[in-house]
Amino acid sequence: MSTDQAEKVQSVDIFDQSLATEEIELNPESNAFAFPPPPPESGNPYRVKLLKGQKGWQQYPGKNGKPGYLATDIECRIIAPDTAYDDRPLFENFASTMLMQSSGTSRVAGILKAIYDTRGQGEKVPARTTHADLARLLQNEIDRESEVGVWIQWAAYCEACSSEDKGVEVRGEKKFPLNADGSHSGELKHKACGSLISAQAKITRYVALT
Ligand SMILES: [Zn+2]
Repeated sequence: MSTDQAEKVQSVDIFDQSLATEEIELNPESNAFAFPPPPPESGNPYRVKLLKGQKGWQQYPGKNGKPGYLATDIECRIIAPDTAYDDRPLFENFASTMLMQSSGTSRVAGILKAIYDTRGQGEKVPARTTHADLARLLQNEIDRESEVGVWIQWAAYCEACSSEDKGVEVRGEKKFPLNADGSHSGELKHKACGSLISAQAKITRYVALT
């Protein structure tokens, strides 16, 4: 809800005869508590355009009190004209400039590489740079709504089974119940605890599209 809307919220007497509200049409048979399932994994890779996230850039502390890496969230909007998934948002929660020891690169650098390779104009991710410069390069791409490919995986987080140290989630569309039409339900009864948990699309990697 935007601040504008929030300011207009007010208490009313719903039995006041002068109370006017908009006419609505709804489907009472539909399940109001079901989440729509994420797009199917069989559609991987999805073409998306990058849009500004909700939180924006945040700085995380580095070693010895020095400023550390930067991270942002991104909205990845699916581009798939004439399909049910066109314009559906996928969410990148943590695109960070943190160097991964295993690969010597970062998620932000990986996203940039996939964007540059998709654009095919020979741009390269710099090998020597700073957290801020890398973040600015990615922000440029978000500002111009650049396109890239993403792979998603269904993941349902179980709050009941998770603790502060350990998050428990079920991953992979195949683990979710099969519908009559061959698609998978976005909801699952977690075997460990019986909770009803819902799948979300997690972006596992970014790839170049041509
Ligand atoms: Zn559970």
